[in-house]
Amino acid sequence: MSVLSRLLFPLARRFIAGNTVEDALAAARTLHARGFASILDFLGEHVRREEDAKTAARAYEALVERLAADGLDAMIALKPTHLGLELGEAFCLGLLETVTGHAVLRGIRVGIDMEDSSTTDAALAAYRRLNGKFPGSVQIALQARLKRSAADLSGLIAEGASVRLVKGAYKEPATIAYTRMREIRKNFLDLLERLLREGRDTAVATHDAVLLREAKERVRRLNAPPEKVEFQMLLGIRPDLQHRLLAEGYRVRIYIPFGAEWLPYTLRRVRERPWYLWLALRSILHPHPYRRTISSPAR
Ligand SMILES: Cc1cc2nc3c(=O)[nH]c(=O)nc-3n(C[C@H](O)[C@H](O)[C@H](O)COP(=O)(O)OP(=O)(O)OC[C@H]3O[C@@H](n4cnc5c(N)ncnc54)[C@H](O)[C@@H]3O)c2cc1C
Repeated sequence: MSVLSRLLFPLARRFIAGNTVEDALAAARTLHARGFASILDFLGEHVRREEDAKTAARAYEALVERLAADGLDAMIALKPTHLGLELGEAFCLGLLETVTGHAVLRGIRVGIDMEDSSTTDAALAAYRRLNGKFPGSVQIALQARLKRSAADLSGLIAEGASVRLVKGAYKEPATIAYTRMREIRKNFLDLLERLLREGRDTAVATHDAVLLREAKERVRRLNAPPEKVEFQMLLGIRPDLQHRLLAEGYRVRIYIPFGAEWLPYTLRRVRERPWYLWLALRSILHPHPYRRTISSPAR
C-alpha cells in the first residue's frame, strides 16, 4: 500500500460503502429503509486495457441484476473513462450501450458522470447516443464550474435531456472554468433555473446550503412538478442535510461509491476539504476499528 493510500485509508470508509457489491447493496438497503433512493458507482476510471473496461461493464451488469432483484429505487453511475474512453470513443460507446441496455431492460436508470474537461465532448456525444436509443432512461451530469455548460445546456434542453447539475469536482484552468465560488454558484443557479423553466427532469447534486436554499426557492417559485426534481448527495457527506430534505418532502438520492479503486474518488473529496489530511494523520496516530470493509486499491 502506498504512503498516500495508507494515509487516506481510514478516511475513505466515510465516503465508500465498501469493496463489494454486497457492501453497496447493504448501504442502499439501509438508505432505502430510511426513504432515500440511490445511485451506485462501481469505482474505477482511466482504464488503459480493454479487458479492464470489459470487466467493469460485466460488473455493472451483475450489479444491475442484483438491484432489479431487490426492487430498489436505484440508478447506476457510469464514468466514460472507466468503460474505456481512453481506448477509443467507439469502444467506450459500445460498452456504455451494452450496460445501459442491460439496465434499462430491468427498469434501472443510468447516470453518466462528467469527468475532467478533456472528456466533456465525448461524454456529451455518448449521452446523446444513449438518450436517443433509451429515451427517458439516462441522465447526464453537467458542471456549473465550466463556462461551456450554458451552451451545452441549450442543446440538452432541446433534446429533452435529464440533467444532474453539479459544481464540478475537477480542477480546470481559468480560461475555461469559473474559479470563484460566487461565480460557480451563480452559474449553477442560472442553469438550474433554465432546467426548471423548461420542465426538464433535474437533479440538484450539491451539499452547499446556500445553493440548496436557492434551489428550493426556485422549485417553489417556478412550480416545478415534484416528479421532475430530486436532490442528490454523496454517501457520508452532510447526512443532516440529506435527512432535512427528505423530511421536507423532497426525493433524495444518495450516490454510493464502492469497490477497491477508492483512492482517486477519495482524493477528490479530500481536495474539497484539505483539513481531512489532518484528520487522516490523526487517525493513524490514534487508530480505531474500521466500520466498513475497504481494502487497499488493487493498483
Ligand atoms: C450526487 C452527486 C454526483 C456528482 N457527480 C459529479 C460528476 O459527475 N462530475 C463532477 O465533476 N462532480 C460530481 N459531483 C461532485 C461535485 O461536482 C462537487 O465536487 C461536490 O458535490 C462538492 O461540491 P458541493 O456542491 O457539495 O459544494 P461545496 O462548497 O464543496 O460543499 C458544500 C458543503 O458540503 C459539505 N462538503 C462538501 N464536500 C465535502 C467533503 N468532501 N467532506 C465533507 N463535507 C463536504 C461541507 O459542509 C461544505 O460546506 C457530484 C456530487 C454529487 C452530490
